[in-house]
Amino acid sequence: MQVQRPSIYIVSTMNGAFDIVIIGAGPAGLAAARQLVSPSGSPRVLLVDKSTPWKHPIPCAEGVFCPQFHQAIDPKESWIRFTIDRAVFHSPNHSSLVYQDINKGYIIDRARMQKDLADECGHNGAECAFERQVTQVEKFGDDGTRRVTFGDGECVSARVVIDCSGPLSSLGRGEPIHCKPMDLEVAYLAHIRTSSVDTDTVHIHAGKDIAPGGYAWTFPRTRRSANVGIIVGSPFRAKANVRRLLECFLKEHFPDSSVEQAFAGTIPCSYGRKTLATYGLIKAGDAASTVNPISRAGISEAMLSGSMAGTCALAMLGAGTKKKMAAVCKEYEKAWYEKRGKRHARLAKVKNSLAKVPDSDYNRAAESLSTVPRKQLTMSRIFSVSLARFPRLVWALRHMM
Ligand SMILES: Cc1cc2nc3c(=O)[nH]c(=O)nc-3n(C[C@H](O)[C@H](O)[C@H](O)COP(=O)(O)OP(=O)(O)OC[C@H]3O[C@@H](n4cnc5c(N)ncnc54)[C@H](O)[C@@H]3O)c2cc1C
Repeated sequence: MQVQRPSIYIVSTMNGAFDIVIIGAGPAGLAAARQLVSPSGSPRVLLVDKSTPWKHPIPCAEGVFCPQFHQAIDPKESWIRFTIDRAVFHSPNHSSLVYQDINKGYIIDRARMQKDLADECGHNGAECAFERQVTQVEKFGDDGTRRVTFGDGECVSARVVIDCSGPLSSLGRGEPIHCKPMDLEVAYLAHIRTSSVDTDTVHIHAGKDIAPGGYAWTFPRTRRSANVGIIVGSPFRAKANVRRLLECFLKEHFPDSSVEQAFAGTIPCSYGRKTLATYGLIKAGDAASTVNPISRAGISEAMLSGSMAGTCALAMLGAGTKKKMAAVCKEYEKAWYEKRGKRHARLAKVKNSLAKVPDSDYNRAAESLSTVPRKQLTMSRIFSVSLARFPRLVWALRHMM
């Protein structure tokens, strides 16, 4: 008879004292947990998520740039759906520009990656409580210990809490820490069934009627299905119906496709130097606004900031005094600022100028670049060909890299 092993994803008693509680088991929370647990012994870690992080559809295009992804994690081959060699930029009048770069991209299978990472963390000693929503995090006592309360009223204590609960996180409200998502943009995406999928290419479409202040994307998902979506800049959020924009886009570009599923999502697309850690509480991933404001990529960034938050939590456990704890917090914020924050802050400033580039600039730039042979189409060539004529576009594009 086969013995049923208890699931590693349900903690039998929720009333306990943990060293570290991580809220959210997306890329940031999983990377933080991975940093903290090991088979040879670790602090007592609880990883909580309101859902099971691989069971529900994840509203994401699943595209990552290889250098950033490899910097964040050593990926398993099974997480990679496709390797991307080319990006095709489509201007509003339908002319296109094919761009190839030595730095490739991947389309990943996030559900599979998140399941593997959760398994690894569970087997290495993290206690996982999935399908449990945290409703409150409050400080009690003088040493930074917090009470973490769940939807059913149960609670646990934690010497350190890492909040990785994503873009709409408001946990820790009232404390001196970043709690409000910055420049929240709305996206709508669909998985469509279609007969023609370029599995080595991503397509990006610009134009005020397609995606005001943002862009539309078509990424491969399987050999017979694609991930198609639209993101709209926050100044246009009130006027634009992003779902309707996607319907129009699909009708025009994929008239024979069928929609398998569709979902909305939000992305905090700005960065300003904010307090990301305070006595016993750390923010990471989207909860700390770590997304690249222009490309809107946030997976690798969340994983990088999650592992940095794990290191910070360990340092907090050993800090001992308030002064040392304050130094640990500053160190974490500084480290993120140096790694990505400084660049993201710059990108956030120029993002608005990209939203103001008129469709005519995109069209004319694509026309003049279409005469350059594809192999010679490097970013510097793009700049040299279009610099004099479309300074605003070039200036904005410069900051995408
Ligand atoms: C439509 C769309 C497309 C995107 N495409 C890309 C892309 O192609 N490439 C890319 O790099 N990035 C993309 N992003 C951004 C990327 O998805 C995020 O930056 C990334 O998921 C952030 O990871 P995270 O762990 O910080 O947050 P999340 O992935 O949001 O994870 C947060 C976790 O916390 C859990 N949670 C939330 N609240 C609670 C609570 N109160 N209690 C318990 N658990 C809680 C949630 O269930 C979730 O599992 C996209 C985003 C959207 C919306």
